[in-house]
Amino acid sequence: AEAHPDLSLRLAAGADDAPAILAPERTTLTHGGLRSLIQATAERLHALGIGRGDRVAIVLPNGPEMATAFVAAAAAASTAPLNPAYRADELDFYLTDIGAKAILVAENEAGPAVAVAERLGIGVLRLIVQPDAPAGSFTIEGAAVGPQAAPDMAGDGDIALLLHTSGTTSRPKLVPLSHANIAASARHIGATLGLSADDRCLNIMPLFHIHGLIAAVLSSLAAGGSIFCTPGFNALRFFQWLGDARPSWYTAVPTMHQAILPRAARNAEVLAAARLRFIRSSSASLPAQVMGELETTFGCPVIESYGMTEAAHQMASNRLPPGLRKPGSVGASAGPEVAVMAPDGRLLTAGETGEIVIRGPNVTAGYEKNPDANATAFAHGWFHTGDQGVLDEDGYLRVTGRLKEIINRGGEKISPLEVDDVLMDHPAVAQVVTFAMPHDKLGEDVAAAVVLREGMSATESDIRAHAATRLADFKVPRKVLILDEIPKGATGKLQRIGLAAKLGL
Ligand code: ATP
Ligand code: MG
Repeated sequence: AEAHPDLSLRLAAGADDAPAILAPERTTLTHGGLRSLIQATAERLHALGIGRGDRVAIVLPNGPEMATAFVAAAAAASTAPLNPAYRADELDFYLTDIGAKAILVAENEAGPAVAVAERLGIGVLRLIVQPDAPAGSFTIEGAAVGPQAAPDMAGDGDIALLLHTSGTTSRPKLVPLSHANIAASARHIGATLGLSADDRCLNIMPLFHIHGLIAAVLSSLAAGGSIFCTPGFNALRFFQWLGDARPSWYTAVPTMHQAILPRAARNAEVLAAARLRFIRSSSASLPAQVMGELETTFGCPVIESYGMTEAAHQMASNRLPPGLRKPGSVGASAGPEVAVMAPDGRLLTAGETGEIVIRGPNVTAGYEKNPDANATAFAHGWFHTGDQGVLDEDGYLRVTGRLKEIINRGGEKISPLEVDDVLMDHPAVAQVVTFAMPHDKLGEDVAAAVVLREGMSATESDIRAHAATRLADFKVPRKVLILDEIPKGATGKLQRIGLAAKLGL
């Protein structure tokens, strides 16, 4: 085959007839078919006036076309996958912030995306999907947004992907990632997990977030393997997909693993026939209890990894057996260099707690239009994650919390993760989130919200009494709310900041 200069094509690395993209009730798209789709999409975008440096927003439901549209459009232009649940005001903000020249939508798109794009003078391009065509195949229909673009494919330094951070701690920041950034991350993930052409990922992650795009989609394609693309996370359908797709792994955020576990007992047959090689968890701290239950239930190792948008996802990871896996740790550097820094820029040694900093080929060159954030984030020659952590003698990292989420109780600093861990050890507790609530005199005090296990009961004072056996008095939550569900962000993450207000505390 002829050598292609662009990374999208090189990342679809499998044999011509090897499966690449699968989806429920669809035939399989091969790696050869995907390469043809990438080539055809790039040519079509050029013909429609979109080329290198132009920005294309993608607003599609989760599924195979969201995966292939990203990979294919990135070959010609810069892509910005957006949450399809956004309302008009949000779309207005994101499309403007990104500087989109065109938006890719489904043929039958009926939400506000089309009207907002038209109002902003952004070209609307529709993806036409033939129902009997392989999963992820499409053609593009729409009016040209400019004269024919130069037929160049994107290069290593071009922006492949524009994503906003999850907005867990503040207003989402716009992160540009180059082809070199995302390719480095995808290959590091593949190397960490030993991915090969035989591997198949069950994707339940949203494809407008870095975790699903890089860890599920690109790492699989770069390894020559395949992805079963679902319409998005659904704890009820998870076991059906597990049976139908026969994946060798899946990756998810902890709240998804927690929603899957209580349904396992009812799906013993699927579990017995499953061929999972490992389960990956990332994007938020995985409670040790959940890790243990996953390993017992699925009979395979759980690999916790540490990722963030600005690093094109993976920074550190535990290793597959016979490599080292440490519960409670996010693992050793697996991509960029990882270090821990004091506020004065001094690098700390094993056992010392400070801010986690990184540098390496997958790290963004800098936030867009945000010089203040860049000045802080890139101080002392390293990228500052905003997370607090500590390395051990083996170079394994423990994330002790986000600097912005540390609870400041009249000067006493409390890590919400430490309190989470203790509350998770209560036998009736299935999920927990510890957070700061306002206090007149102390400024902040500790509060927690918990979800109880099905069929179990516990009162607020039971849980506080349990906490008091393991924590100094000042760390024991003053208030414990027992809820049916804990509110989460769009990517399934618990949001500690602002939770007190949301829960009326
Ligand atoms: P924002 O930056 O807008 O506040 P965000 O940081 O949640 O949002 P992401 O880039 O999606 O946006 O998430 C990265 C963050 O997720 C990391 O900085 C870290 O705080 C957290 N994280 C990721 N993986 C883990 C993990 N395994 N354990 C603990 N925290 C994790
Ligand atoms: Mg962040």
